[in-house]
Amino acid sequence: MQSKDLSFLNEEHTCPYCKSKMLCCEAPPVHVGDGLGWGSEAMFICLADDCSLFLEGWDKVEANYGHHASYRYMELPGSKEENIMMVGNKDAFKASVIDTKEIKKQNVRYQEEKAAVAKLDSCIKDKDLEPVLFLILDEAANLKDRKHAISLLKEMNNLDCIEPIKNHTFRDTSLEQQCRMIIQELLKDNFMKECPYCTEIIKVRAKKCMHCNEEV
Ligand SMILES: [Zn+2]
Ligand SMILES: [Zn+2]
Repeated sequence: MQSKDLSFLNEEHTCPYCKSKMLCCEAPPVHVGDGLGWGSEAMFICLADDCSLFLEGWDKVEANYGHHASYRYMELPGSKEENIMMVGNKDAFKASVIDTKEIKKQNVRYQEEKAAVAKLDSCIKDKDLEPVLFLILDEAANLKDRKHAISLLKEMNNLDCIEPIKNHTFRDTSLEQQCRMIIQELLKDNFMKECPYCTEIIKVRAKKCMHCNEEV
């Protein structure tokens, strides 16, 4: 869903029957050959159980078709055109309601990830640690891009990367190990070390830690 048009997430649809806010639902998969197809991945459905269309639908369907079902009001994204769907029970479609806030959040993160990946090629020249750190610390980012970002740390030679990486909990322990190794190399290259007492970064030559005052 991520790379597609997500503008429907911002749409508001109101049921003309009960005036309640319609919920964005995942469109059901359509079987090839039955010629239906909504032409959309999502649909807005009034799932209010006190909606008059739904309440009165049971008797209408019974009278017209002789089976137990009712109606739900539906609109497609970008459209206010009226669609009526038949449902067999009150819970139909309730499991396919899309958490639009969550998807919007995921999409923002994904856009940030894409922007960071795009900057990787020039980050060393630009001395821009930010996209590198973003990818390394983003557990949802693509693993290949995260590894690429880690591989740039040494050349970037920016000790500012150490604290955020140290404070991050990696789900992938191999990434964590790679980072730890590179941090040790960076420290060495810059004649720095970690204080064995408080783990702050201090000069290799320091006799006393300036952070915790311990003799080192
Ligand atoms: Zn309604
Ligand atoms: Zn210390």
